[in-house]
Amino acid sequence: MQTIQPPAAVTEIGHYVGGKRIAGTSGKSGDVFNPATGERSGRVAFAGVAEVDAAVAAATAAFPAWSDLPPARRATVMFRFRELILRDADRLAGLITAEHGKTFSDAQGELARGLEIVEFVCGIPHLLKGEMTEQVSTGVDSHARRQPLGVCAGISPFNFPAMVPMWMFPVALACGNTFVMKPSEKDPSLALELAALLTEAGLPAGVFNVVNGDKVAVDALLAHPGISAISFVGSTPIAEYVYKTGTGAGKRVQALGGAKNHLVVMPDADLDSAVDALMGSAFGSAGERCMAISIAVAVGDEVADALIERLRPKINALKIGSGIDDGVEMGPLVTGVHRDKVKSYIEIGIKEGATAVLDGRDIKIKGDGFFVGGTLFDGVKPEMRVYREEIFGPVLGIVRVTSLDEALRLINEHEFGNGTSIFTRDGGTARTFDRNVQAGMVGINVPIPVPMAFHSFGGWKRSIFGDHAMHGMEGVRFYTRLKTTTTRWPKAATGAEYIFPTVK
Ligand code: NAD
Repeated sequence: MQTIQPPAAVTEIGHYVGGKRIAGTSGKSGDVFNPATGERSGRVAFAGVAEVDAAVAAATAAFPAWSDLPPARRATVMFRFRELILRDADRLAGLITAEHGKTFSDAQGELARGLEIVEFVCGIPHLLKGEMTEQVSTGVDSHARRQPLGVCAGISPFNFPAMVPMWMFPVALACGNTFVMKPSEKDPSLALELAALLTEAGLPAGVFNVVNGDKVAVDALLAHPGISAISFVGSTPIAEYVYKTGTGAGKRVQALGGAKNHLVVMPDADLDSAVDALMGSAFGSAGERCMAISIAVAVGDEVADALIERLRPKINALKIGSGIDDGVEMGPLVTGVHRDKVKSYIEIGIKEGATAVLDGRDIKIKGDGFFVGGTLFDGVKPEMRVYREEIFGPVLGIVRVTSLDEALRLINEHEFGNGTSIFTRDGGTARTFDRNVQAGMVGINVPIPVPMAFHSFGGWKRSIFGDHAMHGMEGVRFYTRLKTTTTRWPKAATGAEYIFPTVK
């Protein structure tokens, strides 16, 4: 929270309630930075309890009419929303780069993956089709369908300011719910832009609302009796807190948490492909992806040595700079605080005895941006903090093992189980890995196995709290509840029956 008055160029970022942008009234706010320059670019209002109440009230008032619309009419709004995102794609991607720091082309990719969810829910009439059995008993029929929950809320992390909210609200809205979104306070503008596009697409006022803020807003959403379901994505401690608090308050909650993703390189792998995969997945978006590979598991010392030999020049040659500049491959970290945290992990790794083949702490980039260079550790051991904990920066560690079994044991014993990957030319090895690895998303010669919109995204173990992954049919099930109706149209009364009904 800041008390200093911002310069005139700083953008004031408020909320979106009842179909329009509104300013914050709590008196509390936070800074938004341009990570490439280190300059403060915006001041975001932090919602208090009263502002959260107002957003939930708008969503509650909008629910009866919105949920009553035929699904095909709701889909029409999603079709228009899709066209508007395409129209404004470059502007939106530029905004992602400006507040998050990732490269413009990576921001375009993020937006495209979010758009796929909108395209998926354009088919909501089909997705909501129920089941019907004629003659479940003589003269009796039964049908089952899913109905919306009511007002749902989404709480998202900084690293995908467009895509992660779009994992949530398009599915929720298409299913007939209304929504309150609480984006990350580090890059809050995207959700407001998407809200304005939804209004332009014809979404009635109050169906989709955005409250910006911090823990106060999250706690108000968790405690609000008017909210039926909460979708959360962020770090594991907060995910666990949101899950326990939300379910304790009687809500349906899906809470996706942190990760430490391993990529196993077998001795028979195509090493050049494996190295390309490690470069993109460890250093793309400066490692600020929940599906980033942060641990390379080399099966055999020869593989480890060959990886280092190939990775070193490539990491040294990484083009690091402002995400808006052409040819830049890796941008800055999101804030100065996060940059310092990543640097402190590099220090910790060295103290723990890992070998820093490359140390990105002293990189020099023009200006005061939040940059850390590509870092490579060899000799990482399972007991080290740099192995156990999520760093969320451009830091890749190599763990040396002697067999596939040892690689599997290592991965399966890790507390996180978001994504994992294996590079091999052997189908049997890949199949054994795929069947036995304990992670929610598996790649075989694919480094970032992020499922498409019509499949579902979610990890295992402490990378998720709750039963449902996001989007795809899991998303549709999360945002709806099942109702089964049994029907008889008798011509006359048949008399009371005191035994449990069975098929007649
Ligand atoms: P974060 O947990 O700090 O914040 C996530 C959300 O929680 C934000 O909206 C924030 O305002 C809110 N929040 C923060 N502190 C809170 C508190 N004490 N009480 C209540 N709410 C609080 O996460 P982040 O730093 O924004 O994002 C990075 C994390 O998100 C990483 O751990 C990453 O792995 C994870 N992530 C996971 C997935 C996934 O699908 N599993 C996807 C993207 C990011």
